[in-house]
Formats: sequence, structure tokens, C-alpha cells
Amino acid sequence: MAMWKEFIRKTIPYVPGEQPSDKKIIKLNTNENPYPPSPKVLKAAVELGEKGADDLRRYPDPEVKKLVQTLSAYHGVWPENVFTGVGSDDVLSVAFLTFFNSPKPVLFADITYSFYSVWTDIYRIPSKTIPVDEDFRIHVSDYNIPNGGIVIANPNAPTGISLPLEDIRALVEANQDSVVIVDEAYIDFGGQSALALIKDYENVLVVRTFSKSRSLAGLRVGYALGSETLIKAMNDVKFSINSYTMNAPAIKLGVECVQDREYFAECIRKIKDTREYTVENLQRNGFKVLPSDANFVFASHIRHPAKKIFEGLKKRKVFVRFFDKPRINNYLRISIGTDDEMRSFFKELRGVLNDLALDF
Ligand SMILES: *Cc1c(COP(=O)(O)O)cnc(C)c1O
Repeated sequence: MAMWKEFIRKTIPYVPGEQPSDKKIIKLNTNENPYPPSPKVLKAAVELGEKGADDLRRYPDPEVKKLVQTLSAYHGVWPENVFTGVGSDDVLSVAFLTFFNSPKPVLFADITYSFYSVWTDIYRIPSKTIPVDEDFRIHVSDYNIPNGGIVIANPNAPTGISLPLEDIRALVEANQDSVVIVDEAYIDFGGQSALALIKDYENVLVVRTFSKSRSLAGLRVGYALGSETLIKAMNDVKFSINSYTMNAPAIKLGVECVQDREYFAECIRKIKDTREYTVENLQRNGFKVLPSDANFVFASHIRHPAKKIFEGLKKRKVFVRFFDKPRINNYLRISIGTDDEMRSFFKELRGVLNDLALDF
């Protein structure tokens, strides 16, 4: 084997959910928002097409000032408390690289967003997973062990279960020698934000995304809120890799999105209502459903294996997410779509359950 092959970085990548091109598929597998982005975003996108030549010809603002200012006003913090990136995956990746350089392990739950272990692996960060209990709950007292950092998704993925603010506060209080990252990708759909803690604790980083609650997964916008010390350190790392992470259209459309508060609130309300309907109907069809504060539910059927249901739905052009992993391989993660999409989902689901009952 040629020597250079030995020196290729070997890593096992994160596997994202499928993005099929067939528009007829009912797509409930990647927690996208079923509603379109704000009309203000779409209008700004048209304007970009009509008179955005300079926006494209020139480099974007490396400091992303307009979006940073808009987010700081929205959250009532200083611009120095805001970091932006290309989706929260980019923000989290920069945070891992910036803060997790201790020889002690970084802690996260065994059942959580599977990208965390991909980053600790590629950045050679020691890590340790902390098991959630048999009801998939996180106990923050389990994290009171020597560590080089902590990452908590709140609400957690793929369970949808959230932790109260008091638990996050206790976690931070007990771990003041570590940076604690709270990944709030789903916080707009329920649960309590840790944002209130960033003024009192210099070591808390709250990470947010425009991909779920703001219907902009395709634009790739994410951000973090934290103390000036944390944000400056992240910017130093970012500017050591790529000054122009966020492109000009993303900055422009991101600003419009944050400013349309009414449309945002309306989308969230609809998704929460549909979540309630979805949970009730799943239970009626023989599923055990974990309590969800997110735009998805995690459910297990009392009789039929999740994998069989997943495959049956797929044949009927309904995509949900199945994780073939220990502890969760009898669960399906089902994103909340529109009411119409969920009605079609239940129609196909009943078909699949009937087929499985006949095979029995
Ligand atoms: C979806 C998701 C993200 C990443 O979203 P981006 O599209 O990269 O902003 C981060 N964390 C969790 C827990 C997620 O589910």
C-alpha cells in the first residue's frame, strides 16, 4: 500500500436522512418544517434575483454584521454574544474544535444527536457517553464526573424529551470548569431555553438553527449565543479556517426570516396542534409514544417491529426515520408534517399494520 494511503484520515461519517427527489413521497424523515419559509424571505429571494448582482459578485460580510445584529436584538443580548454559521452543524463543529481540548472526556448521552460522536472522532476528542434511563430520560447528576466538556440536546433527539431549565442550571452550576453546550435545535417547539443562563454563566453556549422551526433547512443558517469570551474564541477559530462561511443570500434572507415574528409564531402553533393529533392517533393505532417537545415524535409499536413498519411505509411512499442502533431499534422517529400529510401517513400506516397483522 502506498504510504500516502496510510496517512489518509479515516473516519466514519454522519449519515443524514434520505433526501428523495420524488415529490410524491410524504417526507417525515428529517424533521424539516412542512410549511414554506416566511413570505418576507421569499420576497427578498426574488429581489436578490432581480438586483442582487453585487451581492453575488462581492465577498459576503465576513462578520455577518446584519444577521448578528438582528439576532442580538431578537434575543436581547449584545452582538458580542452571537456567533453565526452554516447551519448549526457548522456552529457545533466549530464549538467542538474550539472548546474541547482537554485530555478529560467530553460527555453526552448515549441516545442523542449522532453527529456529536462523529465530531469527537474526527477531532480526536476523548469522549464518554452517559446512558439515558429506561424511559430515555437524562439525569443531569450523572454528569457530575471529571469531564472536558458537556453537550446536551434540549429537547433531545431522537426522543423529543426535554429537560427543565432547573436541570440545565444544576448541570452548569456543578460543571463550572467545563464548557456546557446546549443544542436547542428544537426549542421553539417546546421546553425551556437555557438562554437565561448565558448572562450568569460564562461557560454556557446555546446553539440554535433556522432549519427546523424557521423552515430554512436548505439555506443553512445556524447560530450560537454565549458569553463574549466563548463567542470570541469561536470567531478566532472560524477565521482560521474560512472567513466567508455564510454566503450573502443566506445573510440577507436570514435577516428577513427573524423579522417576521407573526408568521413564525403561526407555523409553530400549527405544528404543535398537529403533534397533539399525531400522538393521539399513534396511541390509538397501538404505539407507545415518548413525550415530545419537538417537531417529531419517537414511537414504538406494541406488536410489530419498527423495521417492518418502516419498510412497509417506504413501499407506500411514506418516509420516516429508523435507526438500526442498540436501545432504539424498535422505534420510529416521525416528523410532524401538515394535517394533510399526517392524514395520508395514518392511512398508509393502517395499511401497513393490517398487512403485518395478516402475516402474523
Ligand atoms: C437538525 C439538528 C441539528 C443541525 O441542524 P442544521 O441544519 O445543521 O442547523 C443540530 N442538532 C440537532 C439535535 C438536530 O436535530
